[in-house]
Amino acid sequence: MTDKIDVASMTRAECAELAESMGEPAYRGFQLFKAVNACPAQPGGLAAATALPKALRGRLSEESRPIGLTEADKIKSASDGTIKYLFAAGNNTIIESVLTEHSYGHAVCVSSQAGCAMGCAFCHTGRAGFTRDLTAGEMAAQVYLAARDALRRPYSVVVMGMGEPLLNFAALTRFLEIITDPEGAGMSRRRITVSTCGIKGRIARLADTGFGVNLALSLHAPDDGLRRRLMPSADAAPIADLLAECAYYFEKTGRRVTYEYILLAGINDGASHAAELARLTRGAGGHVNLIPVNGAEALGFTRPSGGAVRRFAAELAARGVNATIRRSLGEDLSAACGQLIDTRDQKSGTRKA
Ligand code: SAH
Ligand code: SF4
Repeated sequence: MTDKIDVASMTRAECAELAESMGEPAYRGFQLFKAVNACPAQPGGLAAATALPKALRGRLSEESRPIGLTEADKIKSASDGTIKYLFAAGNNTIIESVLTEHSYGHAVCVSSQAGCAMGCAFCHTGRAGFTRDLTAGEMAAQVYLAARDALRRPYSVVVMGMGEPLLNFAALTRFLEIITDPEGAGMSRRRITVSTCGIKGRIARLADTGFGVNLALSLHAPDDGLRRRLMPSADAAPIADLLAECAYYFEKTGRRVTYEYILLAGINDGASHAAELARLTRGAGGHVNLIPVNGAEALGFTRPSGGAVRRFAAELAARGVNATIRRSLGEDLSAACGQLIDTRDQKSGTRKA
């Protein structure tokens, strides 16, 4: 890539050090951090950061990478107001983010990588393969740019877009530090959720960082055999080990872990699967989020009927496991989970701008 300074991926303390290394007082660095991390994003980037002296602005513009991402396209759902963004992250790399609207405010779904190497059988992103890790600044820019349409800071951020966040660990934790900084977006940790397919050792490592964000583990099967068939990454991470790490996460952070479970008709949605899932998660300090599979017919998967989904939830409830059924937003524009792939030639939503 480039050896230019990546200001957008710098913490506030690092911005202060940068300013000092340029012969400026530390507070100039804080001003820089504030300008770069304005949420909603200020149009104009560094050039518009008028709090900074003109000479410093000029030097920074010359020596740093461009701030933010370029919006390649934006599509608004005709049915529920969800907006799907296609952002260009450098040459030939398109990533996706989604803004959803809820009674309590807006949520932004952020990508952590361009593509994903994990290859889950039901996931379009996984089937398309991996391009590269995103930087912390590219992750933060997704929040700030989507916030422009929300007209304010989002209520919550979910790292559930393209990619496996725990395989981009350093950028993820840097991103968390940046967006929770009170001088930046000031997002509350309790309103940030990181979703992972489960990379051995990394859940515990995330607990040890002390960020205390919400954690979602993509479980999707109650036994290792079926899980390995659906998720190749499961080979290296047995369910028992992942659950032990989730227990550690809860103990260390006090944050409840959510177990995500995609329902695939005829594959993992039977009464025996529910019983086994309940056995695994009961008492684990967490709750189960059931996700009827989205748009994966082409990959060979069918969504169970509404009745089958409710029966599965009832089986869990009867065994003392708290389960919710995820409402899928943005389905008409492939913005729902697992559909994040560059499909510009197939879109069916209403183009916004
Ligand atoms: N890589 C991380 C985060 C991104 S995927 C993870 O796997 O957790 C975010 C969520 O979308 C995961 O729970 C994932 O399993 C789910 N998902 C993937 N494909 C899907 C599909 N076709 N329908 C519904 N959910 C899907
Ligand atoms: Fe990657 Fe998550 Fe999709 Fe699996 S579900 S391929 S881990 S993005």
